[in-house]
Amino acid sequence: MDILEKLIAELGSAHVLTSDADRAPYDRDWTGKYIGKSLAVVRPANTHEVTEVMKLANHSRTPVVPMGGNTGLSGGCYPGEDRRKLILSLERLTHIRNINTVTRTVTVEAGVVLEALHNAVDEHDLIFPLTFGAKGSCRIGGTLSTNAGGSNVLRYGNARALCLGLEVVTADGSIMNLMSSLRKDNTGYDLKDLFIGAEGTLGVITGAVLKLFPKPTDYGTAMVAVSGTEAALDLLNILNDRTGGAVEAFEYMPKSYFSAMTTRFPQLKAPRTQLADVNILMEIGLTGLERGGAAEILESVLGAAMENGTVFDAAIAQNSAQRKSMWACREAALEVILSRPPVVTTDIAVPLDKVGAFLAQMNRQLADIAPGAEPILFAHLGDGNIHYTVWMDPQGSGANAESDEAVIKAVEALALDMGGTFSAEHGIGVYKLGSMRRGKDPVALDAMRHIKRALDPENILNPGKVLPD
Ligand SMILES: Cc1cc2nc3c(=O)[nH]c(=O)nc-3n(C[C@H](O)[C@H](O)[C@H](O)COP(=O)(O)OP(=O)(O)OC[C@H]3O[C@@H](n4cnc5c(N)ncnc54)[C@H](O)[C@@H]3O)c2cc1C
Repeated sequence: MDILEKLIAELGSAHVLTSDADRAPYDRDWTGKYIGKSLAVVRPANTHEVTEVMKLANHSRTPVVPMGGNTGLSGGCYPGEDRRKLILSLERLTHIRNINTVTRTVTVEAGVVLEALHNAVDEHDLIFPLTFGAKGSCRIGGTLSTNAGGSNVLRYGNARALCLGLEVVTADGSIMNLMSSLRKDNTGYDLKDLFIGAEGTLGVITGAVLKLFPKPTDYGTAMVAVSGTEAALDLLNILNDRTGGAVEAFEYMPKSYFSAMTTRFPQLKAPRTQLADVNILMEIGLTGLERGGAAEILESVLGAAMENGTVFDAAIAQNSAQRKSMWACREAALEVILSRPPVVTTDIAVPLDKVGAFLAQMNRQLADIAPGAEPILFAHLGDGNIHYTVWMDPQGSGANAESDEAVIKAVEALALDMGGTFSAEHGIGVYKLGSMRRGKDPVALDAMRHIKRALDPENILNPGKVLPD
């Protein structure tokens, strides 16, 4: 029997997809940039079936590409074109095993969709805070494997900070049980942290124990036109001081973003405020411990800032519909920027006190590297994560198509020069292999290669991702 026959015997033919039509949605990534040809898509129902798939793959040296919601932005699920790799979809592992309101933890299978988890814990007046535009499709295993960030990292941390325990199926099909719900566990090397952010190159995450937090009882949300990024970051500190660190989101969207947004999505309404070059969607979430209501705190802080001239205008959401509509503007960002190809996307972060200098310097450099190209920016400003994105050919002349690589190199080099990173939250996949080669410390890269060889000696787990040749 060949591997496909063995997989069908193990999982049933309904869960081993081989036809072009069945594989098509898995073979193509969300952006449409990476379209490959897998050998088959396998859809195990539980951890045991994942172990069986991995044993068969290991035995036959068949490469395996783990997949969650397939919303990753770095080509981490690209199966290549050689029809040799199995896509291992975790989409049937959707069981929430336990919500523990005493330890404030939730135990989930890897295929649980992020938004489904939000809804499940909401019934207990708790939150799992990780959130971003793909929440309706991305799955917990994928968010952990990319160490996803999103809008409220500044308060709660990224996926890594929210994870206490993991269940991992290793390359040879063993189950590594790291399913601790402990906040303290110093029993040697922290293997859990190796698998988080490994993009499926070290093991297949099948389950996780995640932290939960009290649900804020009062949200204050505002769209604020500010005089500059330095003034905006001052506001961030003032708001955090006033609320004991309750700022949940601090998202930057310049005026140019809103005009692109209404072109792409005419149904979305830009907030009724005078827009400036620097507009911030800010949100605070109070749990009742802080003094004063959320809207009142925003009014008082923004009122003072208007008097000293650092804030030009502000719209504070008066109800949940207005809050939702402000967030809809932010969550559309990726579709807005991808609406005018060719587009160059980046995912850099710089220290907060370098954000203003980075933007000014990069805009100047861009005019030299790719004349006529147009930056279309948005950022998780509160943690210095800027998606410096460029419409390479806004006039449709085709003149700038060859400059993509030069722009990426310049953006990432400037970020590194300022003490930043070339990949803040989207990972490496295949998209940033060149950046890894150029920008990652060579000793660190060497250590990563040793770890990869130790955990996956046959190189069957997502080969060709994360580590450049
Ligand atoms: C509209 C939109 C908005 C987004 N906004 C953000 C944002 O604000 N912040 C952010 O960080 N990201 C964002 N992303 C990127 C993406 O949603 C995240 O990277 C997400 O965490 C990926 O989850 P997924 O389940 O779709 O993973 P997938 O795309 O399926 O996989 C991503 C990587 O993880 C590996 N993998 C998946 N599941 C497993 C598993 N169980 N075990 C081992 N490896 C696995 C895959 O092999 C691949 O390398 C956005 C994407 C979209 C489309």
